[in-house]
Amino acid sequence: AEPPALRLVTADAVRGWWPHPGPTDDKYTRGVVGLASGSEQYPGAAILSTGGALSGPSGYVRYAGAARDAVRTAHPEVVCSPTVAEAGRVQAWVVGSGLGTDDDAAEAVRRILATDLPVVLDADGLTIVSKRLDWVREREGPTVLTPHDREFERLAGEVGPDRLAAARRAASELGATVLLKGYRTVIAGPDDAPAYVVAAGVPELATAGTGDVLSGVVGSLLAGGLAPAEAAAAGAFVHGTAGRLAAEAGPVVASRVLAHLPDAVRRVALGH
Ligand code: AMP
Ligand code: MG
Repeated sequence: AEPPALRLVTADAVRGWWPHPGPTDDKYTRGVVGLASGSEQYPGAAILSTGGALSGPSGYVRYAGAARDAVRTAHPEVVCSPTVAEAGRVQAWVVGSGLGTDDDAAEAVRRILATDLPVVLDADGLTIVSKRLDWVREREGPTVLTPHDREFERLAGEVGPDRLAAARRAASELGATVLLKGYRTVIAGPDDAPAYVVAAGVPELATAGTGDVLSGVVGSLLAGGLAPAEAAAAGAFVHGTAGRLAAEAGPVVASRVLAHLPDAVRRVALGH
């Protein structure tokens, strides 16, 4: 059998996928994304991930967790609650960035993975499930895993020289879409659908917190109705573009990548 297709993600492809509101849309029909991220110790992860979600196409961003005072101050439009159980209805979840790995964190991850909703699982969320892989394997809804190399190794063993083969193997073992981050980000699904390579980023993105921004954008695209591989590919492309714009402007830190995301979305997804 032929191997599944591999596609280099282009701005034109992302423009074609990006959801746009129609005249009869409201904030709910555009998609509600929920984020369970950050903690008292890492409030920045909550600010960065909710900020990433605010540059995606969804109409409503909810936050559930311990960093809600920081989130409210940074982003007044985000609706906050203390726990996932109290968050209300969402169409897609993002869980894990800066969440910690204590019992409360594990409970938030468990509760979110027990839904049939699309989920982006990042950072501490990946660490939590690396000892409980059935939480991912047994899901009915789509899961997008966003590991860097060390997180990947905890989940699925060595990355090795063939990053695409590693992502494909993990995707099929875990029944999830795997977005393996790096200089070239690769995305593979659990089925025979095409895999993607995203080459939009710059090495300056290798700085703390940039992955948190990425998880939020991908979650917003899932809530906006994209299929998991295309949500991952579009999110990684606009995130990489924001990193390039930030690098052109000066030294790159995650909050500056976040600040350049609207411009990246304008150029890539809106095409001007
Ligand atoms: P994280 O490690 O979770 O903060 O995520 C890091 C982000 O920066 C991901 O989006 C990576 O793809 C990106 N990144 C890290 N290193 C590089 C690199 N050398 N070149 C381009 N992008 C990178
Ligand atoms: Mg990270």
